Amino acid sequence: MNDGEILSTGRALAKRYAIENPKSFRLQSCDPDGTDGLTGLKKGDAKELLEDGVRMLAQQQDMLYAQDHWSILLIFQAMDAAGKDGVIKHVMSGINPQGCEVHSFKAPSTEELDHDYLWRSTRRLPPRGTIGIFNRSYYEEVLVVRVHREILTHQKIPPSLLEKDIFESRYVDIRNMEEYLSRNGTVIRKFFLNVSKAEQRKRFLDRIDTPEKHWKFSATDVKERQHWDQYMDSYEEMIRHTSTPNSPWHVIPADNKWFTRIAVAGIIIDTLASLGLHYPKVDEGRLAQLKEARESLMEEGS
Ligand code: ATP
Ligand code: MG
Repeated sequence: MNDGEILSTGRALAKRYAIENPKSFRLQSCDPDGTDGLTGLKKGDAKELLEDGVRMLAQQQDMLYAQDHWSILLIFQAMDAAGKDGVIKHVMSGINPQGCEVHSFKAPSTEELDHDYLWRSTRRLPPRGTIGIFNRSYYEEVLVVRVHREILTHQKIPPSLLEKDIFESRYVDIRNMEEYLSRNGTVIRKFFLNVSKAEQRKRFLDRIDTPEKHWKFSATDVKERQHWDQYMDSYEEMIRHTSTPNSPWHVIPADNKWFTRIAVAGIIIDTLASLGLHYPKVDEGRLAQLKEARESLMEEGS
């Protein structure tokens, strides 16, 4: 595919999977097995398309870095085994590591619990010119913490502030914080990798049955699966309350890994293209400087 075709594919994917009307969003109407953002594309063509997309992403990132104005924050949330790690690995494979950082957020440490819940993410926000990837994020605070409300009692929050509708307040905090970041040049795109319960089971069994994948399997993952419906409710509420025009959620079908990867790559390419990136323009003074440096180097001979 040429660059123009990749761009229009990316735009179509972004349009298809961005949640533009969050108030009426229903997770049930999203098919984890769907591939309809890419009409006519077969699994066999996917490898080539992903390679072309990754090449284009690398060019865009080079300009992002040179221009040094915008930063990109990509947030990934999903149930276990939905493929977050694989997406991050494949989509970012062509990117210059100097301009990209991945942060994984697990259960908070003692030091982290001594601060407000956004503190640890704020410290990891991407500097201008770079891409930051959050593998899980502050959204866990309205997901796992909502499913296991008892976690709140370990967060050292003054008890008088533990209101009944604390998650409603958190949605507001998060929306405000993201809007603030947008206004300062951080472009946020959020991805929920929507895997089905049946596919998760298949992937867990595969991890159990394949020695090379044993390390990926954790018994707690099977326990968390028992709360599947509560997690789905929490994801739905989260998306309804925090998908905004400046920082939209995308619900990406995740039962087919090849499709998930292309969809995410396409949406990132579309996002970067929308910024009108270009290399910084060089003024007369700088051109004269370059000329002088060239002459000086030429005088040295070879
Ligand atoms: P993988 O399983 O592929 O290695 P992962 O992202 O699931 O990746 P784990 O170490 O298995 O990594 O899990 C991290 C765990 O930390 C998740 O269960 C998540 O819910 C939990 N977690 C993340 N943030 C918070 C938080 N703020 N409060 C409580 N638990 C959290
Ligand atoms: Mg896990």
